[in-house]
Amino acid sequence: MEDCIFCKIIKGDIPSSKIYENDKVYAFLDISPVNKGHALIVPKKHSKNMLEDDDDDLKAVIHASKIVAKAIIMAVRADGFNLGVNTNSAAGQVVFHTHFHIIPRFNDDGLKQWTGAPYEDNEMQSIQNKILNSLIGE
Ligand code: 5GP
Ligand code: ZN
Repeated sequence: MEDCIFCKIIKGDIPSSKIYENDKVYAFLDISPVNKGHALIVPKKHSKNMLEDDDDDLKAVIHASKIVAKAIIMAVRADGFNLGVNTNSAAGQVVFHTHFHIIPRFNDDGLKQWTGAPYEDNEMQSIQNKILNSLIGE
């Protein structure tokens, strides 16, 4: 898609530090890493977020994420990794071409994890029911 920075990277119009590629997927290092080795895995076919991806493309991205994550862990001697997908601006998405972040993690890297907020009485069951109703037909 014109004007999409990741489409331009996939086409080679913008340089990137490629670490993996197959017929459906392209992976490269994030230019502004949370930790060294932070990578982005993207489907070659443009979609603005993962909810719009073909299932086959999404499967390919997940499969590639596993392969790339293993290599990153070995390369930077990480203790673990976070797989992150920011979907829509509210979740921090800035580039609107589907991408999975693989962020290598180290035991002492000091990055903050999410913190939880407890449910009110019966709220958890109510949310569960709303989700179950939303899943009808899926
Ligand atoms: P988002 O917030 O949309 O989930 O993440 C977008 C990511 O793309 C950011 O982590 C940002 O550093 C990365 N990014 C944006 N532009 C470029 C670029 O031109 N090259 C590379 N390698 N990464 C980019
Ligand atoms: Zn794109």
